[in-house]
Amino acid sequence: MTNTLEYNIDEHLIEKEPFYMAQSNEVEIGLTAQANQLPLLLKGPTGCGKTRFMQYLAWRLKSPLITVSCHDDLSTSDLVGRYLVKASEAVWQDGPLTLALRAGGICYLDEIVEARKDTTVVIHPLTDDRRELPVEKLGKLYKAPDDFMLAVSYNPGYQSVTKDLKPSTRQRFVSLNFDYPDPELEAEIVGRESGCDPGLSRKMVKLAAMTRSLKESGLPEGASTRLIIQAVKLMQGGICAVDACRAGVIESLTDDPELLEAMDDMITSLF
Ligand code: ADP
Repeated sequence: MTNTLEYNIDEHLIEKEPFYMAQSNEVEIGLTAQANQLPLLLKGPTGCGKTRFMQYLAWRLKSPLITVSCHDDLSTSDLVGRYLVKASEAVWQDGPLTLALRAGGICYLDEIVEARKDTTVVIHPLTDDRRELPVEKLGKLYKAPDDFMLAVSYNPGYQSVTKDLKPSTRQRFVSLNFDYPDPELEAEIVGRESGCDPGLSRKMVKLAAMTRSLKESGLPEGASTRLIIQAVKLMQGGICAVDACRAGVIESLTDDPELLEAMDDMITSLF
């Protein structure tokens, strides 16, 4: 018999409704995908609401949500589980994927393309009709319960071609394309998240849009909704608007002196 470290899965339940403003019918598609045991792929730039969407979906489904931030060192054991030695005894510890699967929850693999190829292979049998997870070290094959959902995200903007998702992988998913919200919606989000007045949130959205237009000039990614909310929080903490936008937005985007100067002009034109 294997001793297993027990987790309290309820810790991963989202009790309070997360604030989420839908951009389109992504909530309906997400709920329908889950009801039909289909995995979900969220694509879009950083800070545009993918994680918040997953939190909202999990809340709507009353499902525990287990999020894994993928990185190039992430191993299969990190996802599936491993033996640990406790008081000179080998104890099995479920990884986040196994934990979510056994509990019939949602496992969200954020920035999946960052993970090693041999790691992502483990999700293949989970994404097709089999919906199974082989746990080699335990000699077990777990069948996913109907309410288990696998969701992954990636940012098509800054991933190199070699790091792109393989067609065989991506064709297993229902895909939702996320982008920065329309200016009015984004201003509403900034206002709701920070509590700032509509005039300021509109200005910040304008600044974000200006930085996003610098893509052709070599800026890999413009300011995200997250960044502009961050700058507003600095302002609310007493930092003047120009400094808050410098520290909270543009310095986080680049080190390039010319791009910084161009964005500094944008700030001073607005504040
Ligand atoms: P990512 O796409 O990187 O996962 P997040 O979901 O973490 O981005 O979004 C960053 C922040 O932007 C959130 O914490 C939230 O404050 C805000 N945000 C972005 N889009 C929305 C949205 N549609 N509804 C509510 N908040 C949003």
